[in-house]
Amino acid sequence: MKCPFCGSEEDRVIDSRPAREGSAIRRRRECVQCSQRFTTYEFIEEVGTFVLKANGSREPFDRTKVLKGIKIACTKRPVGLELIEQVVAAVEAKVQSAETREIPSSQIGEWVMGELRGVDEVAYVRFASVYRRFENVDEFVRELQTLRPVRDSSQSN
Ligand SMILES: [Zn+2]
Repeated sequence: MKCPFCGSEEDRVIDSRPAREGSAIRRRRECVQCSQRFTTYEFIEEVGTFVLKANGSREPFDRTKVLKGIKIACTKRPVGLELIEQVVAAVEAKVQSAETREIPSSQIGEWVMGELRGVDEVAYVRFASVYRRFENVDEFVRELQTLRPVRDSSQSN
């Protein structure tokens, strides 16, 4: 597994344990190169759930794509990999419990935003800005303003 700190692909597993009620294996790894530790999760490959894209095409749900998008949104934010994994797991749980096996990509984006919002506001806005493709600054500011009630729910308009 590629080390998130130095990029080396050599590591040793120092601990493995069941996670998410046995549906995943959590592995604690130590990089052979730089000795930093990181965590990976192993899941059964998702079967039967498809993502409907805006252009009408369909592709199997891929958690690594969700993970990648969230990682990019969390760049240089105080959000650790474990927290990011928790967000992905929460989104994945929603995907798995959805009534339909074909989920619009926009719905998955909304689920990610719903989770990210409670984790890191900057990461949330970054993700939202990509996902919703802000057309102008006003829209971006409006999005920022909707964040305020989360911080201070006692404030009213
Ligand atoms: Zn390393």
